[in-house]
Amino acid sequence: MSEFTVLNPATELPVTTVTQPAAADADAAITRAVAAQERWRAVAPGERAGMLRRFAAAVDAHVDELADLEVAGSGHPIGQARWEAGHVRDVLLYYSAAPERLIGQQIPVPGGLNVTFHEPVGVVGLIVPWNFPMPILAWGMAPALAAGNTVIAKPAELTPLTAIRIGELAAEAGLPDGVFQVMPGKGSVVGQRLVDHPAVRKIVFTGSTEVGREIMAGCARQIKRLTLELGGKSANIVLADADLERAAATAPYAVFDNAGQDCCARSRILVQRSVLDRFMELFEPAVKGVAVGDPAQAGTEMGPLISAAHRRHVASYVPDGAPVAFRGSAPDGPGYWFPPTVLAPVGANDPAYTEEVFGPVVTVTPVEDEAEAIAIANDTPYGLSGSIWTSNVGRAIRVARAVESGNLSVNSHSSVRYWTPFGGFKQSGLGRELGPDAPDAFTETKNVFIATE
Ligand code: NDP
Repeated sequence: MSEFTVLNPATELPVTTVTQPAAADADAAITRAVAAQERWRAVAPGERAGMLRRFAAAVDAHVDELADLEVAGSGHPIGQARWEAGHVRDVLLYYSAAPERLIGQQIPVPGGLNVTFHEPVGVVGLIVPWNFPMPILAWGMAPALAAGNTVIAKPAELTPLTAIRIGELAAEAGLPDGVFQVMPGKGSVVGQRLVDHPAVRKIVFTGSTEVGREIMAGCARQIKRLTLELGGKSANIVLADADLERAAATAPYAVFDNAGQDCCARSRILVQRSVLDRFMELFEPAVKGVAVGDPAQAGTEMGPLISAAHRRHVASYVPDGAPVAFRGSAPDGPGYWFPPTVLAPVGANDPAYTEEVFGPVVTVTPVEDEAEAIAIANDTPYGLSGSIWTSNVGRAIRVARAVESGNLSVNSHSSVRYWTPFGGFKQSGLGRELGPDAPDAFTETKNVFIATE
Protein backbone atom coordinates (compact mmCIF):
# COMPACT_ATOMS: atom_id res chain seq x y z
CA MET A 1 0.00 0.00 0.00
CA SER A 2 1.24 3.51 -0.73
CA GLU A 3 1.09 6.42 1.69
CA PHE A 4 -0.04 10.02 1.42
CA THR A 5 1.40 12.82 3.54
CA VAL A 6 -1.17 15.32 4.80
CA LEU A 7 0.32 18.82 4.91
CA ASN A 8 -0.79 21.68 7.14
CA PRO A 9 -1.85 24.36 4.60
CA ALA A 10 -0.93 27.16 7.02
CA THR A 11 2.65 25.95 7.56
CA GLU A 12 3.36 23.53 4.67
CA LEU A 13 4.65 21.09 7.32
CA PRO A 14 3.62 17.41 7.41
CA VAL A 15 0.80 16.57 9.84
CA THR A 16 0.75 12.80 9.39
CA THR A 17 0.79 10.09 6.75
CA VAL A 18 -2.25 8.10 5.69
CA THR A 19 -2.23 4.67 4.07
CA GLN A 20 -3.76 4.64 0.60
CA PRO A 21 -5.89 1.59 -0.02
CA ALA A 22 -5.82 -0.11 -3.40
CA ALA A 23 -8.84 -1.11 -5.52
CA ALA A 24 -8.74 -4.60 -3.96
CA ASP A 25 -9.10 -3.02 -0.48
CA ALA A 26 -12.12 -1.09 -1.71
CA ASP A 27 -13.61 -4.35 -2.99
CA ALA A 28 -13.07 -5.98 0.42
CA ALA A 29 -14.80 -3.01 2.11
CA ILE A 30 -17.72 -3.34 -0.29
CA THR A 31 -18.04 -7.06 0.56
CA ARG A 32 -18.10 -6.17 4.28
CA ALA A 33 -20.71 -3.47 3.65
CA VAL A 34 -22.97 -5.88 1.73
CA ALA A 35 -22.85 -8.41 4.58
CA ALA A 36 -23.42 -5.71 7.22
CA GLN A 37 -26.37 -4.26 5.34
CA GLU A 38 -28.47 -7.42 5.78
CA ARG A 39 -28.01 -7.12 9.53
CA TRP A 40 -28.36 -3.32 9.71
CA ARG A 41 -31.68 -3.20 7.85
CA ALA A 42 -33.03 -5.80 10.29
CA VAL A 43 -32.18 -3.71 13.36
CA ALA A 44 -35.42 -2.41 14.87
CA PRO A 45 -36.01 1.26 13.96
CA GLY A 46 -35.90 2.44 17.56
CA GLU A 47 -32.62 0.64 18.13
CA ARG A 48 -31.10 2.08 14.94
CA ALA A 49 -32.20 5.53 16.11
CA GLY A 50 -30.52 4.93 19.47
CA MET A 51 -27.25 3.94 17.81
CA LEU A 52 -27.27 7.12 15.71
CA ARG A 53 -27.85 9.15 18.87
CA ARG A 54 -24.91 7.41 20.55
CA PHE A 55 -22.81 8.18 17.44
CA ALA A 56 -23.88 11.85 17.77
CA ALA A 57 -22.91 11.82 21.46
CA ALA A 58 -19.47 10.41 20.58
CA VAL A 59 -18.95 13.21 18.06
CA ASP A 60 -20.13 15.75 20.63
CA ALA A 61 -17.57 14.47 23.14
CA HIS A 62 -14.80 14.97 20.55
CA VAL A 63 -15.75 18.32 18.98
CA ASP A 64 -12.51 19.97 20.07
CA GLU A 65 -10.35 17.10 18.86
CA LEU A 66 -12.11 17.01 15.46
CA ALA A 67 -11.83 20.80 15.17
CA ASP A 68 -8.09 20.70 15.90
CA LEU A 69 -7.65 18.01 13.23
CA GLU A 70 -9.48 20.18 10.68
CA VAL A 71 -7.35 23.20 11.55
CA ALA A 72 -4.17 21.18 11.07
CA GLY A 73 -5.21 19.16 8.03
CA SER A 74 -7.43 21.61 6.13
CA GLY A 75 -6.47 25.08 7.40
CA HIS A 76 -9.99 25.92 8.57
CA PRO A 77 -10.19 28.69 11.19
CA ILE A 78 -10.75 27.16 14.62
CA GLY A 79 -14.15 28.80 15.19
CA GLN A 80 -15.41 27.49 11.88
CA ALA A 81 -13.93 24.04 12.51
CA ARG A 82 -15.68 23.78 15.90
CA TRP A 83 -18.95 24.72 14.24
CA GLU A 84 -18.38 22.06 11.56
CA ALA A 85 -17.76 19.30 14.12
CA GLY A 86 -20.87 20.37 16.04
CA HIS A 87 -22.77 20.32 12.75
CA VAL A 88 -21.89 16.62 12.29
CA ARG A 89 -23.43 15.92 15.70
CA ASP A 90 -26.54 17.98 14.86
CA VAL A 91 -27.08 16.30 11.49
CA LEU A 92 -26.77 12.86 13.11
CA LEU A 93 -29.27 13.85 15.80
CA TYR A 94 -31.72 15.26 13.24
CA TYR A 95 -31.68 12.07 11.15
CA SER A 96 -31.76 9.82 14.22
CA ALA A 97 -35.48 10.61 14.20
CA ALA A 98 -35.87 9.16 10.69
CA PRO A 99 -35.74 5.38 11.27
CA GLU A 100 -39.02 5.53 13.19
CA ARG A 101 -40.64 7.71 10.54
CA LEU A 102 -39.93 5.69 7.38
CA ILE A 103 -43.61 5.06 6.88
CA GLY A 104 -45.35 4.06 3.65
CA GLN A 105 -48.89 4.43 2.37
CA GLN A 106 -51.95 2.20 2.30
CA ILE A 107 -53.96 2.58 -0.91
CA PRO A 108 -57.40 0.95 -1.20
CA VAL A 109 -57.83 -0.84 -4.58
CA PRO A 110 -60.57 -3.17 -5.93
CA GLY A 111 -60.32 -6.54 -4.22
CA GLY A 112 -57.80 -5.50 -1.61
CA LEU A 113 -55.28 -2.83 -0.74
CA ASN A 114 -51.77 -1.84 -1.62
CA VAL A 115 -49.17 -0.95 0.96
CA THR A 116 -45.84 0.70 0.25
CA PHE A 117 -42.55 0.21 2.04
CA HIS A 118 -39.37 2.32 1.92
CA GLU A 119 -36.65 -0.27 1.49
CA PRO A 120 -32.98 0.73 1.84
CA VAL A 121 -31.10 0.82 -1.47
CA GLY A 122 -28.19 -1.22 -0.01
CA VAL A 123 -24.58 -0.03 -0.01
CA VAL A 124 -24.04 3.72 -0.52
CA GLY A 125 -20.74 5.16 -1.78
CA LEU A 126 -20.15 8.66 -0.45
CA ILE A 127 -17.45 10.68 -2.27
CA VAL A 128 -16.47 13.86 -0.42
CA PRO A 129 -14.41 16.89 -1.58
CA TRP A 130 -11.68 18.65 0.40
CA ASN A 131 -13.39 21.97 1.02
CA PHE A 132 -15.85 20.95 3.79
CA PRO A 133 -14.70 17.48 4.87
CA MET A 134 -16.97 17.17 7.92
CA PRO A 135 -20.31 18.75 6.92
CA ILE A 136 -20.45 17.12 3.49
CA LEU A 137 -19.62 13.74 5.02
CA ALA A 138 -22.48 14.16 7.49
CA TRP A 139 -25.06 15.22 4.90
CA GLY A 140 -24.79 11.89 3.07
CA MET A 141 -23.81 9.58 5.91
CA ALA A 142 -26.59 10.41 8.41
CA PRO A 143 -29.73 10.02 6.23
CA ALA A 144 -28.25 7.00 4.42
CA LEU A 145 -27.56 5.18 7.70
CA ALA A 146 -30.93 6.20 9.13
CA ALA A 147 -32.69 4.64 6.13
CA GLY A 148 -31.00 1.28 6.76
CA ASN A 149 -28.13 1.47 4.27
CA THR A 150 -24.49 0.79 4.91
CA VAL A 151 -22.04 3.51 3.87
CA ILE A 152 -18.50 3.60 2.52
CA ALA A 153 -17.15 7.15 2.63
CA LYS A 154 -14.20 8.26 0.54
CA PRO A 155 -12.83 11.55 1.84
CA ALA A 156 -10.71 13.73 -0.46
CA GLU A 157 -7.11 12.62 -0.68
CA LEU A 158 -5.94 16.00 0.68
CA THR A 159 -8.21 16.07 3.76
CA PRO A 160 -8.92 12.58 5.14
CA LEU A 161 -8.18 13.11 8.85
CA THR A 162 -11.55 14.13 10.31
CA ALA A 163 -13.44 11.49 8.29
CA ILE A 164 -11.07 8.78 9.56
CA ARG A 165 -11.63 9.93 13.16
CA ILE A 166 -15.42 10.10 12.69
CA GLY A 167 -15.28 6.51 11.38
CA GLU A 168 -13.49 5.46 14.58
CA LEU A 169 -16.06 7.31 16.69
CA ALA A 170 -18.87 5.43 14.91
CA ALA A 171 -17.27 2.14 15.92
CA GLU A 172 -16.66 3.36 19.50
CA ALA A 173 -20.35 4.36 19.68
CA GLY A 174 -21.36 0.81 18.83
CA LEU A 175 -22.28 0.93 15.15
CA PRO A 176 -21.88 -2.68 14.00
CA ASP A 177 -18.81 -3.64 12.00
CA GLY A 178 -19.11 -2.76 8.30
CA VAL A 179 -22.06 -0.37 8.70
CA PHE A 180 -19.97 2.78 8.26
CA GLN A 181 -16.50 2.51 6.75
CA VAL A 182 -14.08 5.28 5.80
CA MET A 183 -11.72 4.54 2.90
CA PRO A 184 -9.24 7.33 2.27
CA GLY A 185 -7.46 7.14 -1.04
CA LYS A 186 -7.35 8.43 -4.56
CA GLY A 187 -10.53 9.31 -6.41
CA SER A 188 -9.24 7.50 -9.45
CA VAL A 189 -8.80 4.30 -7.39
CA VAL A 190 -11.18 4.06 -4.41
CA GLY A 191 -13.77 6.55 -5.74
CA GLN A 192 -13.80 4.95 -9.15
CA ARG A 193 -14.25 1.49 -7.60
CA LEU A 194 -17.31 2.69 -5.67
CA VAL A 195 -18.78 3.95 -8.95
CA ASP A 196 -17.91 0.79 -10.92
CA HIS A 197 -18.73 -1.93 -8.39
CA PRO A 198 -22.23 -3.33 -9.00
CA ALA A 199 -22.86 -4.00 -5.28
CA VAL A 200 -22.74 -0.25 -4.54
CA ARG A 201 -26.30 0.81 -5.30
CA LYS A 202 -26.08 4.57 -4.86
CA ILE A 203 -23.36 7.21 -5.19
CA VAL A 204 -23.49 10.54 -3.42
CA PHE A 205 -20.86 12.75 -5.00
CA THR A 206 -19.88 16.28 -4.09
CA GLY A 207 -17.12 17.86 -6.09
CA SER A 208 -16.29 19.48 -9.39
CA THR A 209 -18.69 19.49 -12.31
CA GLU A 210 -16.02 17.82 -14.51
CA VAL A 211 -15.57 14.79 -12.24
CA GLY A 212 -19.33 14.73 -11.56
CA ARG A 213 -19.98 14.36 -15.28
CA GLU A 214 -17.68 11.29 -15.41
CA ILE A 215 -19.32 9.80 -12.32
CA MET A 216 -22.76 10.27 -13.84
CA ALA A 217 -21.60 8.41 -16.97
CA GLY A 218 -20.18 5.61 -14.78
CA CYS A 219 -23.43 5.30 -12.81
CA ALA A 220 -25.44 5.29 -16.06
CA ARG A 221 -23.69 2.09 -17.12
CA GLN A 222 -25.34 0.30 -14.18
CA ILE A 223 -28.46 2.46 -13.77
CA LYS A 224 -27.01 3.30 -10.36
CA ARG A 225 -28.78 5.92 -8.25
CA LEU A 226 -26.89 9.19 -7.91
CA THR A 227 -26.90 12.54 -6.14
CA LEU A 228 -24.55 15.19 -7.51
CA GLU A 229 -23.56 18.39 -5.68
CA LEU A 230 -21.28 20.26 -8.07
CA GLY A 231 -19.76 23.67 -8.74
CA GLY A 232 -21.26 27.13 -8.47
CA LYS A 233 -20.82 30.73 -9.61
CA SER A 234 -23.42 32.42 -7.52
CA ALA A 235 -24.62 36.01 -7.81
CA ASN A 236 -25.00 38.44 -4.96
CA ILE A 237 -27.59 40.93 -6.28
CA VAL A 238 -27.63 44.33 -4.56
CA LEU A 239 -30.56 46.46 -5.71
CA ALA A 240 -30.78 50.21 -5.19
CA ASP A 241 -33.37 50.02 -2.41
CA ALA A 242 -31.23 47.64 -0.29
CA ASP A 243 -29.74 48.27 3.12
CA LEU A 244 -26.32 49.00 1.56
CA GLU A 245 -24.48 49.09 4.87
CA ARG A 246 -25.53 45.53 5.69
CA ALA A 247 -25.10 44.26 2.15
CA ALA A 248 -21.54 45.62 1.96
CA ALA A 249 -20.56 44.61 5.49
CA THR A 250 -21.59 40.98 4.94
CA ALA A 251 -20.57 40.54 1.28
CA PRO A 252 -16.95 39.58 2.15
CA TYR A 253 -18.16 36.67 4.27
CA ALA A 254 -20.44 35.52 1.43
CA VAL A 255 -17.40 34.90 -0.75
CA PHE A 256 -14.25 34.80 1.42
CA ASP A 257 -15.50 32.34 4.06
CA ASN A 258 -13.39 29.17 3.90
CA ALA A 259 -11.00 31.26 1.75
CA GLY A 260 -13.60 31.20 -1.04
CA GLN A 261 -13.35 27.41 -1.30
CA ASP A 262 -17.10 27.15 -1.09
CA CYS A 263 -19.49 25.92 -3.77
CA CYS A 264 -22.00 28.52 -2.52
CA ALA A 265 -19.52 31.45 -2.65
CA ARG A 266 -21.26 34.56 -3.98
CA SER A 267 -18.36 35.33 -6.31
CA ARG A 268 -20.22 37.67 -8.68
CA ILE A 269 -21.57 40.80 -7.01
CA LEU A 270 -24.14 42.56 -9.23
CA VAL A 271 -24.88 46.08 -8.01
CA GLN A 272 -27.49 48.45 -9.38
CA ARG A 273 -25.49 51.22 -11.06
CA SER A 274 -27.16 54.09 -9.18
CA VAL A 275 -25.71 52.83 -5.86
CA LEU A 276 -22.46 51.30 -7.15
CA ASP A 277 -20.12 54.05 -5.88
CA ARG A 278 -21.65 54.06 -2.42
CA PHE A 279 -21.55 50.24 -2.27
CA MET A 280 -17.84 50.17 -3.23
CA GLU A 281 -17.07 52.83 -0.60
CA LEU A 282 -18.65 50.61 2.06
CA PHE A 283 -17.29 47.34 0.64
CA GLU A 284 -13.60 48.35 0.68
CA PRO A 285 -13.17 48.62 4.49
CA ALA A 286 -15.23 45.46 4.94
CA VAL A 287 -12.84 43.52 2.68
CA LYS A 288 -9.76 45.02 4.31
CA GLY A 289 -11.22 44.15 7.72
CA VAL A 290 -11.38 40.38 7.12
CA ALA A 291 -9.03 38.77 9.67
CA VAL A 292 -6.74 36.55 7.58
CA GLY A 293 -4.12 34.55 9.43
CA ASP A 294 -3.21 31.59 11.63
CA PRO A 295 -6.27 29.34 11.60
CA ALA A 296 -5.47 28.05 15.08
CA GLN A 297 -5.99 31.54 16.57
CA ALA A 298 -9.45 32.43 17.87
CA GLY A 299 -10.75 35.39 15.89
CA THR A 300 -9.22 34.36 12.57
CA GLU A 301 -11.88 34.60 9.88
CA MET A 302 -10.00 33.32 6.84
CA GLY A 303 -7.19 30.80 6.61
CA PRO A 304 -4.98 29.61 3.75
CA LEU A 305 -5.92 27.83 0.53
CA ILE A 306 -5.75 24.05 0.59
CA SER A 307 -2.55 23.45 -1.43
CA ALA A 308 0.21 25.01 -3.48
CA ALA A 309 -1.39 23.70 -6.69
CA HIS A 310 -4.72 25.24 -5.77
CA ARG A 311 -3.07 28.57 -4.96
CA ARG A 312 -1.49 28.58 -8.44
CA HIS A 313 -4.94 27.89 -9.89
CA VAL A 314 -6.55 30.75 -7.94
CA ALA A 315 -3.69 33.13 -8.79
CA SER A 316 -4.22 32.45 -12.51
CA TYR A 317 -7.49 34.41 -12.24
CA VAL A 318 -5.57 37.50 -11.08
CA PRO A 319 -2.79 37.88 -13.67
CA ASP A 320 -0.55 40.95 -13.90
CA GLY A 321 -2.69 43.84 -15.08
CA ALA A 322 -5.93 42.37 -13.70
CA PRO A 323 -8.40 45.10 -12.68
CA VAL A 324 -7.82 44.83 -8.92
CA ALA A 325 -10.07 47.38 -7.21
CA PHE A 326 -8.74 46.59 -3.71
CA ARG A 327 -7.45 43.69 -1.64
CA GLY A 328 -7.36 42.50 1.92
CA SER A 329 -4.28 41.20 3.65
CA ALA A 330 -2.55 37.81 3.90
CA PRO A 331 0.47 36.64 5.92
CA ASP A 332 3.93 36.35 4.34
CA GLY A 333 6.05 33.25 4.69
CA PRO A 334 5.07 29.61 4.59
CA GLY A 335 1.45 28.63 3.97
CA TYR A 336 -0.77 28.74 0.90
CA TRP A 337 -2.00 32.30 1.49
CA PHE A 338 -3.97 34.44 -0.91
CA PRO A 339 -5.49 37.80 0.05
CA PRO A 340 -9.19 38.60 -0.41
CA THR A 341 -9.28 40.22 -3.84
CA VAL A 342 -11.93 42.38 -5.51
CA LEU A 343 -11.88 42.73 -9.31
CA ALA A 344 -13.80 45.58 -10.97
CA PRO A 345 -14.68 46.31 -13.69
CA VAL A 346 -14.43 42.84 -15.23
CA GLY A 347 -15.50 41.93 -18.76
CA ALA A 348 -18.15 39.25 -19.28
CA ASN A 349 -15.55 37.04 -21.01
CA ASP A 350 -13.02 37.21 -18.18
CA PRO A 351 -12.51 33.72 -16.64
CA ALA A 352 -12.71 35.31 -13.16
CA TYR A 353 -16.28 36.29 -14.07
CA THR A 354 -17.38 33.12 -15.87
CA GLU A 355 -15.55 30.30 -14.04
CA GLU A 356 -15.69 28.97 -10.51
CA VAL A 357 -12.46 30.36 -8.96
CA PHE A 358 -12.88 28.48 -5.65
CA GLY A 359 -10.70 31.05 -3.93
CA PRO A 360 -11.02 34.51 -2.35
CA VAL A 361 -11.61 36.42 -5.59
CA VAL A 362 -14.82 38.31 -6.32
CA THR A 363 -15.96 40.37 -9.30
CA VAL A 364 -18.23 43.42 -9.08
CA THR A 365 -20.46 44.24 -12.06
CA PRO A 366 -22.91 47.15 -12.41
CA VAL A 367 -26.44 46.39 -13.61
CA GLU A 368 -29.04 48.91 -14.77
CA ASP A 369 -32.11 47.41 -13.17
CA GLU A 370 -33.81 44.33 -11.76
CA ALA A 371 -34.33 42.76 -15.19
CA GLU A 372 -30.67 43.03 -16.11
CA ALA A 373 -29.64 41.66 -12.70
CA ILE A 374 -31.79 38.56 -13.27
CA ALA A 375 -30.51 38.10 -16.83
CA ILE A 376 -26.86 38.33 -15.75
CA ALA A 377 -27.40 36.15 -12.68
CA ASN A 378 -28.83 33.43 -14.94
CA ASP A 379 -26.19 33.77 -17.66
CA THR A 380 -24.08 30.88 -16.32
CA PRO A 381 -24.21 27.09 -16.59
CA TYR A 382 -24.31 26.93 -12.78
CA GLY A 383 -27.25 27.45 -10.41
CA LEU A 384 -26.38 26.66 -6.81
CA SER A 385 -26.81 29.65 -4.52
CA GLY A 386 -27.26 33.40 -4.44
CA SER A 387 -28.39 36.41 -2.47
CA ILE A 388 -30.82 39.24 -3.17
CA TRP A 389 -30.65 42.53 -1.29
CA THR A 390 -33.74 44.77 -1.42
CA SER A 391 -36.11 46.37 1.07
CA ASN A 392 -39.17 45.55 -1.06
CA VAL A 393 -40.59 42.15 -0.09
CA GLY A 394 -42.55 41.70 -3.31
CA ARG A 395 -39.49 42.44 -5.36
CA ALA A 396 -37.44 40.03 -3.26
CA ILE A 397 -39.84 37.19 -3.99
CA ARG A 398 -40.14 38.16 -7.69
CA VAL A 399 -36.36 38.14 -8.16
CA ALA A 400 -35.95 34.95 -6.11
CA ARG A 401 -38.48 33.16 -8.32
CA ALA A 402 -36.68 34.36 -11.46
CA VAL A 403 -33.12 33.43 -10.50
CA GLU A 404 -32.31 29.87 -11.63
CA SER A 405 -30.70 28.61 -8.48
CA GLY A 406 -31.41 25.97 -5.84
CA ASN A 407 -30.63 28.02 -2.72
CA LEU A 408 -31.30 31.72 -2.37
CA SER A 409 -31.31 34.08 0.56
CA VAL A 410 -32.92 37.50 0.85
CA ASN A 411 -31.03 40.13 2.84
CA SER A 412 -28.74 37.39 4.09
CA HIS A 413 -25.97 35.14 2.81
CA SER A 414 -26.89 31.88 4.45
CA SER A 415 -27.14 28.76 2.26
CA VAL A 416 -27.32 25.57 4.25
CA ARG A 417 -29.60 24.45 7.05
CA TYR A 418 -29.78 20.73 7.62
CA TRP A 419 -33.56 20.79 8.05
CA THR A 420 -34.18 22.40 4.64
CA PRO A 421 -33.34 20.95 1.18
CA PHE A 422 -30.03 21.80 -0.47
CA GLY A 423 -28.89 21.32 -4.07
CA GLY A 424 -28.35 22.96 -7.43
CA PHE A 425 -30.06 23.79 -10.72
CA LYS A 426 -28.40 23.27 -14.12
CA GLN A 427 -24.78 22.06 -13.98
CA SER A 428 -24.58 22.61 -10.22
CA GLY A 429 -26.04 19.19 -9.59
CA LEU A 430 -28.75 16.64 -9.53
CA GLY A 431 -31.05 15.86 -6.63
CA ARG A 432 -31.40 17.40 -3.19
CA GLU A 433 -29.71 16.66 0.10
CA LEU A 434 -30.77 17.54 3.65
CA GLY A 435 -34.27 18.47 4.81
CA PRO A 436 -36.88 16.06 6.13
CA ASP A 437 -37.15 14.05 2.87
CA ALA A 438 -33.44 13.22 2.58
CA PRO A 439 -33.77 9.63 3.93
CA ASP A 440 -36.30 8.88 1.14
CA ALA A 441 -33.51 9.45 -1.39
CA PHE A 442 -31.76 6.45 0.15
CA THR A 443 -34.73 4.11 -0.24
CA GLU A 444 -36.66 2.34 -2.98
CA THR A 445 -40.44 2.38 -2.76
CA LYS A 446 -41.88 -1.13 -2.78
CA ASN A 447 -45.55 -1.57 -3.62
CA VAL A 448 -47.35 -4.70 -2.33
CA PHE A 449 -50.91 -5.73 -3.17
CA ILE A 450 -52.84 -7.66 -0.48
CA ALA A 451 -56.00 -9.38 -1.66
CA THR A 452 -58.93 -9.13 0.73
CA GLU A 453 -61.32 -11.25 -1.35
P1 NDP B 1 -13.08 16.91 -7.29
O1 NDP B 1 -14.21 16.71 -8.22
O2 NDP B 1 -11.73 16.95 -7.83
O3 NDP B 1 -13.05 15.77 -6.16
C1 NDP B 1 -14.15 15.48 -5.35
C2 NDP B 1 -14.02 14.06 -4.82
O4 NDP B 1 -14.10 13.14 -5.91
C3 NDP B 1 -12.67 13.77 -4.15
O5 NDP B 1 -12.89 12.86 -3.07
C4 NDP B 1 -11.89 13.09 -5.26
O6 NDP B 1 -10.84 12.28 -4.83
C5 NDP B 1 -12.98 12.27 -5.91
N1 NDP B 1 -12.69 11.83 -7.28
C6 NDP B 1 -11.85 12.40 -8.18
N2 NDP B 1 -11.84 11.68 -9.33
C7 NDP B 1 -12.70 10.66 -9.15
C8 NDP B 1 -13.14 9.58 -9.97
N3 NDP B 1 -12.70 9.40 -11.20
N4 NDP B 1 -14.04 8.70 -9.48
C9 NDP B 1 -14.53 8.85 -8.23
N5 NDP B 1 -14.15 9.86 -7.40
C10 NDP B 1 -13.26 10.75 -7.86
O7 NDP B 1 -13.48 18.22 -6.48
P2 NDP B 1 -12.64 19.01 -5.40
O8 NDP B 1 -12.20 18.09 -4.33
O9 NDP B 1 -11.63 19.81 -6.09
O10 NDP B 1 -13.78 19.92 -4.74
C11 NDP B 1 -14.07 21.16 -5.23
C12 NDP B 1 -15.33 21.15 -6.06
O11 NDP B 1 -16.42 20.64 -5.29
C13 NDP B 1 -15.75 22.52 -6.50
O12 NDP B 1 -16.12 22.53 -7.85
C14 NDP B 1 -17.00 22.80 -5.65
O13 NDP B 1 -17.89 23.71 -6.20
C15 NDP B 1 -17.58 21.46 -5.48
N6 NDP B 1 -18.43 21.44 -4.30
C16 NDP B 1 -19.80 21.40 -4.45
C17 NDP B 1 -20.62 21.44 -3.35
C18 NDP B 1 -22.10 21.34 -3.49
O14 NDP B 1 -22.76 21.02 -2.50
N7 NDP B 1 -22.69 21.58 -4.66
C19 NDP B 1 -20.08 21.54 -1.99
C20 NDP B 1 -18.66 21.57 -1.96
C21 NDP B 1 -17.86 21.52 -3.08
P3 NDP B 1 -9.34 12.88 -4.71
O15 NDP B 1 -9.34 13.67 -3.48
O16 NDP B 1 -8.44 11.71 -4.63
O17 NDP B 1 -9.11 13.69 -5.95
